[in-house]
Amino acid sequence: MSALIEDNLAAINQRIADACARAGRSTDDVELIAVSKKFPADAVHAAFDAGHRVFGESRVQEAIEKVPLIQSPADWHFIGRLQKNKVRKALPLFSTFHSIDSLELALAVNRIAREEGFFPKVFIQTNIADESSKAGFSRAELFDHIDTLLDLDRLQIVGLMTIPPPRKEREETRRDFAAVRELRDELVKQTGIPLPELSMGMSSDFELAIEEGSTAVRVGSAIFGKRAY
Ligand SMILES: *Cc1c(COP(=O)(O)O)cnc(C)c1O
Repeated sequence: MSALIEDNLAAINQRIADACARAGRSTDDVELIAVSKKFPADAVHAAFDAGHRVFGESRVQEAIEKVPLIQSPADWHFIGRLQKNKVRKALPLFSTFHSIDSLELALAVNRIAREEGFFPKVFIQTNIADESSKAGFSRAELFDHIDTLLDLDRLQIVGLMTIPPPRKEREETRRDFAAVRELRDELVKQTGIPLPELSMGMSSDFELAIEEGSTAVRVGSAIFGKRAY
């Protein structure tokens, strides 16, 4: 398994480099988050031994068990839906939270981070296609709340994150990613605060996301294989 994970990582890094080249971007500006949810610590060890350091998990309980098994300096990012009653347990495990999807959650993370002494990096999750089933701020909510979010003293807000809806055509997904980038640009213009990062792209669409400005791609199955549910 470990040789396969090493080969997969090398292949993904090459595809990231190719997408950066097509877009005229530096590979230094795109971080690969290896999403290890549902995979055992052994799989993370294999990636770590191949030189990879940044991992993503989507459940706090799973991370409580897995994170202590991996040597430092692994860097863990939380990418799933975060329940407010799990925030206190999550803060010591994760440097970065990709999925701050409501004002209520942002306020809770800020308050608990103050109590516990953390300054997490966060992405604001954006529901770019206004899907009723999906978490995240709509465009209108983001404009309503951006000043409040940016005032939260414990959250280092670095940018926007999105999970686009399933689309039949890849060019539609490209438009979703571009729409998030443009929304970010508008927010920067309105607030004067830099929001340099965009967390966009998974196994099936990370190259499109990079071409449209992603700085953080969250890739799981293309590295670790099919997840067993
Ligand atoms: C699982 C997950 C990923 C990785 O998905 P793959 O298709 O396996 O690459 C990325 N982002 C989020 C939010 C996820 O939950």
